This record gives sequence, C-alpha cells and structure tokens, in this order.
Amino acid sequence: MKKTAVVIGGGLGGLFTGAILSREGMKVTVIEKNAAIGGGLQSFTRFGEVFDTGMHVIGGMQKGGNIRRICEYLGIFDKIHIMDVDPGMTDSLYFAEDRRHYRIAQGRDRFIASLAESFPGQEAALSAYTDAIFRIVDELDLFYLRPASGYMRVHSEDFLMPADGFIAKYIHNDHLRSVLAYMNPLYGGRPGMTPAYIHALISVLYINGPSRFAGGSSLFADTLRDLIVGNGGEVIAGDGVEHVHSADRLVTGVTTRKGRTFTGDFYICAIHPCAFFSLLDDPSILPKAYRTRLDEIPVSYSAFTLNLKLKPRTFRYMNHSSYYMGRYADIWNFGRSGSGWPLGFLYMTPPEIGQGEYSTKMIITAPMAWDMVRQWEDTSYGHRGSGYMEWKCRCAEKLLDMMEEMYPGFRDCVEAVNTASPLTIRDFYGIKEGAMCGYSKDCNNMALSQVPVVTKVKNLLLTGQNCGIHGFCGVPLTAINTCEAILGNNYVLDSISRFENGREHV
Ligand SMILES: Cc1cc2nc3c(=O)[nH]c(=O)nc-3n(C[C@H](O)[C@H](O)[C@H](O)COP(=O)(O)OP(=O)(O)OC[C@H]3O[C@@H](n4cnc5c(N)ncnc54)[C@H](O)[C@@H]3O)c2cc1C
Repeated sequence: MKKTAVVIGGGLGGLFTGAILSREGMKVTVIEKNAAIGGGLQSFTRFGEVFDTGMHVIGGMQKGGNIRRICEYLGIFDKIHIMDVDPGMTDSLYFAEDRRHYRIAQGRDRFIASLAESFPGQEAALSAYTDAIFRIVDELDLFYLRPASGYMRVHSEDFLMPADGFIAKYIHNDHLRSVLAYMNPLYGGRPGMTPAYIHALISVLYINGPSRFAGGSSLFADTLRDLIVGNGGEVIAGDGVEHVHSADRLVTGVTTRKGRTFTGDFYICAIHPCAFFSLLDDPSILPKAYRTRLDEIPVSYSAFTLNLKLKPRTFRYMNHSSYYMGRYADIWNFGRSGSGWPLGFLYMTPPEIGQGEYSTKMIITAPMAWDMVRQWEDTSYGHRGSGYMEWKCRCAEKLLDMMEEMYPGFRDCVEAVNTASPLTIRDFYGIKEGAMCGYSKDCNNMALSQVPVVTKVKNLLLTGQNCGIHGFCGVPLTAINTCEAILGNNYVLDSISRFENGREHV
C-alpha cells in the first residue's frame, strides 16, 4: 500500500514537497485555502494583464542550476516557461543621491569587470570579495545538491558574520559597499544581524544568472499540481484547513472549512508555523516552549507593490531587474520604519511568452515596515475604509514620482494602477505581518532562527520558507529536507544525482 501524506498549504513549499513525495511513490493530498493554488507563485489578472504576486525573479534555473536539476528530476523542466535575463545586464541600479547608474553583469569575471567600470582601482578588492562569497556558498552542501559532508559541519568565520560586516571586511569604498548590498531587499537584510551566508547565496545565484517566469508564475504552480495529480494525488483549492486533530501524540486528521476530513500517514505543515499552531485541537501535542519560541522569532519586513498596465508601445521591455535607491547610507535601512518611505524599490517588466520589444506591464516592489499598516491590522480585504484607500494612493503617487525622476514622461506611459500592501500579503498567504521572506535570520543567535523540519510529533513535519531560506532558491531545498525526513537520509539527493541534463543515468 502506498504511504500517504496530507500537505497543509498549496504554496511553493507545499507543492514542491508534494511533487517530490508523489514522484517517489507516495499518495499526496495538498490542501490550499485560496481559490488559486501557488502561494508566492500565484498570479492574478487585472486590466487584462497577468501579474505575479511573489515570484518576480528566480535563481537556480540556468543550465546546471540546482532548482533546474530538481525540475529535471521531477520531469517538468520541459513543461515550464522561463526566460533567462540578459547576461550583459543582470541588474541595473540607480542611486538618486548622486544620480549615478550602475550596471551589474552576469558571470564571475563579468560581474567584477562591470563593477570595476564604475569603481576603477577596486578590481582586487572585488575579486577577493567575489571569491569569498563563492567560498561561503560552497559550505552549503544542499545548495549544490550534495549529501551533507559530515554530521556536524563547522562553518568558516565569514559564513556567520553579519552580511554588512562581511562586505566591509573585503571592501573599503563606502559607495561600493552599498552597491554590493543592493539585493538586500530580496532577503530582508538587517545590519549586524543577517548572516553573510544569506547574502552570499543570493548574490551567487544572481552572478550565476537569474531567470523569470514568462506568462506568469502560476503556470509553474499548475505544472507542479499536474505532476501530483498525474502521480495519483490530489490538489484541493479554495478550502483551507481549519482543524488539526490528534491523539496519542500523533496527528490523526485535518478538517477543512467546507467540513471535509483528510487523513494520512504523514502531515506536512506548509504554512506559517504559528498559523498552524492555531489550528491544533490540542496545542499541547507540541511543547509550549517550542510554540513560544517560534512565535517570538521576528519576521522580515514586508512590501508595497504597484502593478501597472502600460499603454501600448510606450515603454521598452527590459530583460533584467532594476533598482531605484535613495541614499547610499540607507542601503541597510529598508523596512525598518515608515520614516522617509520609500528608501528604494525594485521595478521590472515581467516577460510574456514570446515577449516583444515593448512591455505592457510593470511591477514595482518597495520594502515596507509592518508599522506603516498597523493601524488597519484588524481589518480584512475589501473592508479597510477610505483612509486606507487614500493612503495607498499616496504611496502609489510617491513611487510614480520616483519613476518619473528616472524616466521623464513615465506617467504618460501608465494606463492603469493596482496596489497591494503588507495587509494584502498577510491576508492572501496567511503570512505573519506580510513578511516577504519569513523568519528573520540572526547571526548573533542562529539557534533562535533555525527551525528544523521535524517536530516532536512523529508524523508531523514542517516545510516552506520559515524552515530554511525563503524564495525560489531556498524553499525547494527545504522541501528536499522535509521529504528526506520521511523517505530517508539522502534519498532524494541520490535520486536527483542520477539525473544529468534531464536524462537518468542507466
Ligand atoms: C511581494 C513579494 C515578492 C517576492 N518576490 C520574490 C522573488 O522575486 N523571488 C523569490 O524567489 N521569492 C520572492 N518572494 C518570496 C517567496 O514568495 C516566498 O519565499 C515563498 O512563496 C514562500 O513559500 P511558502 O511555501 O513557504 O509559502 P507560500 O508560498 O506563501 O505558501 C503558503 C500557502 O499556504 C496557504 N495557506 C495558509 N493557511 C492555510 C490553511 N489554513 N489551509 C490551507 N492553506 C493555507 C496560503 O494561501 C499559501 O498559498 C516574494 C515574496 C513577496 C511577499
């Protein structure tokens, strides 16, 4: 008889975990509360355009990349639509303080050369820094889909330094330090706190080459769903789990909002752990100290998003991400308070399948502190009042002013505007304080922010961004950990290693 698993949450983590388990012969049921599956992979249609909600730029999908190898092992790589960004311009940056533009190129040597163009005389420092980030990432066996080297890995001093301190160790030019930290909005970076390995991992992924989903990230969620269903499983949308039942220190079933009960050999929590605790009929099956610890871990900051429909043939498609930054000194201050918001933002023109010369849409994501929406935290979607709607309009205007500063005449390109705030993220994904990246990692107290995938309840496991690294580069790796806790150590990694360029070794 097939072993069975019930996965609570049909987002990136739940779908990847379900896909791997079903690929390895288990019968999987994924339960998603929203009408659309995908969580951060979810897209929505507004003004006739498809907008992604939480997956704009992805790493690990280029040839030999870790997530691409997982997709090849799952047999789905040929079914997905992605577009690699321009190798000559992975990202472009503008600092308003001195109106300077920077171009960041792909590939180790081109990355160094592109920055050295703007910072002559810094080649040696940039080279030492780049070697250091690649060395750090090499300490992460899972990143390279290698079985863990040894029971207790001792990490280097660089690995656990605060990211800002790590950059400062190698780079002495203040402006270059800020430029190298430009991606910290992608990982909720905090000065003196975010470990260097997170910075190194995201930076290496982008130096190796980022990609983007063409035609909407939800197509990828659909592909994972089809795989699970094709393997005899189920993916149920529009019916969230409301109760988790237990007896004799085991989970015995879950009941949904529509009153359906599902049982399995294993239960996998793919939602925020604290949201899960509130569903437990008997919370004491998990130790109180554990629940309190997870409840007290601070989460990353959130974001305000502007989705723009652009008038036809007015704005050229950009095959890379771009950043507006205010002051160099603020590079580590994103999402700390409302003061001076926005300190900067990421903007991009998401690709369509068969993308042409012009773009019909743009997504602007500006980090935002939860404090900025705290006054409306007890409201729900569609019922937040006119004060909230006016505040959202003011936020949108500020972002449009900054776009106008970079691209005079930009407002004339905009046909329609849609906005989403940290409250939208909280309510749609069920994420505490609308956090973009889940739990904050703290290099001063790594034990606090490390959440194992196994729990004291033998048939209950966790997955998703709160157990490891967030995003497309992290959540699928945690899914492997979760699946191996069921299937056996290195079981999935060994299966993946049998695949090369999409073919299984015989
Ligand atoms: C604005 C924004 C932009 C981002 N941009 C990027 C990016 O460009 N690249 C990148 O790699 N990462 C990005 N991220 C991060 C990425 O989206 C997340 O790290 C990732 O989606 C987390 O996966 P997860 O499975 O842990 O959670 P989610 O994907 O959020 O999935 C959790 C799912 O559980 C469901 N759920 C909650 N409660 C229940 C319940 N009771 N019953 C059933 N289902 C439930 C939710 O509806 C949701 O679908 C972004 C995040 C945000 C917010």
